[in-house]
Amino acid sequence: MTKGCGLLGYEPSYYTDTAQAKPDYPCLKGEVQADICIVGAGFTGLSAALHLAEQGYQVAVLEAERIGWGASGRNGGQVCQGHNMGHEELEKKLGKASADLLWQMSLESVDLVRALIAKHDIQCDLKQGVMHVAAKPAHNAHIKETVEYKNRVLNYDALKYVEPDEVSAMLGCERFGAGEYWTEGAHLHPLNYALGLAQAAEKAGVRFYENSRVSHYASHKTVEGSQVTVECEQGQVKAKYLLLACNGYLGNLEPRIASKIMPINNFILATEPLDDATCRRINRDDIAVADSRFVINYFKLSGDNRLLWGGGENYSSKFPKDIGNFVRPYMLEYYPELKDARIDYGWGGTLAITLNRMPHFDRVDDAIFVAQGYSGHGVALATLGGKLMAEAISGSAERFDLFAKVPTPSFPGGTLLRWPGLVAGMLFYSLRDRFF
Ligand SMILES: Cc1cc2nc3c(=O)[nH]c(=O)nc-3n(C[C@H](O)[C@H](O)[C@H](O)COP(=O)(O)OP(=O)(O)OC[C@H]3O[C@@H](n4cnc5c(N)ncnc54)[C@H](O)[C@@H]3O)c2cc1C
Repeated sequence: MTKGCGLLGYEPSYYTDTAQAKPDYPCLKGEVQADICIVGAGFTGLSAALHLAEQGYQVAVLEAERIGWGASGRNGGQVCQGHNMGHEELEKKLGKASADLLWQMSLESVDLVRALIAKHDIQCDLKQGVMHVAAKPAHNAHIKETVEYKNRVLNYDALKYVEPDEVSAMLGCERFGAGEYWTEGAHLHPLNYALGLAQAAEKAGVRFYENSRVSHYASHKTVEGSQVTVECEQGQVKAKYLLLACNGYLGNLEPRIASKIMPINNFILATEPLDDATCRRINRDDIAVADSRFVINYFKLSGDNRLLWGGGENYSSKFPKDIGNFVRPYMLEYYPELKDARIDYGWGGTLAITLNRMPHFDRVDDAIFVAQGYSGHGVALATLGGKLMAEAISGSAERFDLFAKVPTPSFPGGTLLRWPGLVAGMLFYSLRDRFF
């Protein structure tokens, strides 16, 4: 079912077969000196690297696999404003001024993605518009309240309430309820966005090392400040600062932050290219769509008119054998008329969620920064997260610290016993999706 892999060393997907660039960076060998060492070349690490190099820092990025190999090169490509935690809840936790700033930064995150794409001329099928739709009538009222709150209290008028009839007309499907339409939201080809960021960062002087998995590191103080030594199998980087940008692939690298996130797997299929009439019927305005289920369905059209449909998760270390067929029933539930559409690709990726669904930004010590746990909202927020780490290192830590102030509870059971509780919880919520 899944076609051949256009890029060696990547999980085969529609994105790898349509990648604009073929990165080829060396494996780290011997000793390298840098101001900053970054572990992980997804949106977080790439954005941090680019912003730091533009300020004149010497940056080395160590990636265990390939550039954009993780969630950043495999996701649904939806770029949306807002946070997963409601504004009122953020206000209760941090006060009005901080909650307002976090909201503003969520708007900035989408602008930042657009600005980087424009500045570096990244070819990544960027299109306008994201709509969140009620999966069932019981969710309509919440959608209406969310839109009204953002319009009235936050003075944000680029979010529109869409009546269920209009949603049906836009999506050619009567099963969805009302919609919240983020008219300034966007969607894109995520791997091409990641590869474009890497090219821009390389031009700015960043040194990338692929197939260079960090096994461990140590930091200590010297008379000049901090020093970190980061070890891979065949080499090491010595730097003043270390940025951990590993997200769902962190594993056991840093036990002090691992219990703040839970890796979960999410899956996407791509149909064969659909004819123009079908595309216009199921997605009249060529926007990205996500529904309100706990295990969400999300979809968009690709640059070549395939339906990319995300649906289904698992919480194990293995992906289903036939991912296309695993996801297909979710798509057919809404669009049974696509039963004869060929499924050309099916792939999965691992993302990191936090218990409160806000990203987890932190300092492990004075020299080690972390940004992770975007909880399915990382295309925009990870790009911003990288920029905020760069700001913090260059002396303006206020915005990084504001995110870091949002309390991130650890998953019960710590790093070892998180799984059973999570699996039970997730199954409960996904069952609730089906029955209520
Ligand atoms: C299927 C799927 C759909 C999604 N859809 C959306 C969406 O539509 N919109 C949205 O906003 N978000 C979405 N997300 C989430 C989004 O993709 C992530 O939040 C974002 O990509 C995180 O970027 P990152 O750079 O932090 O992590 P990643 O892109 O996962 O990068 C982490 C990198 O660290 C590397 N690494 C880990 N350990 C080591 C080590 N020891 N040494 C060296 N390198 C290491 C990994 O190899 C990996 O490349 C989705 C995620 C998935 C999986």
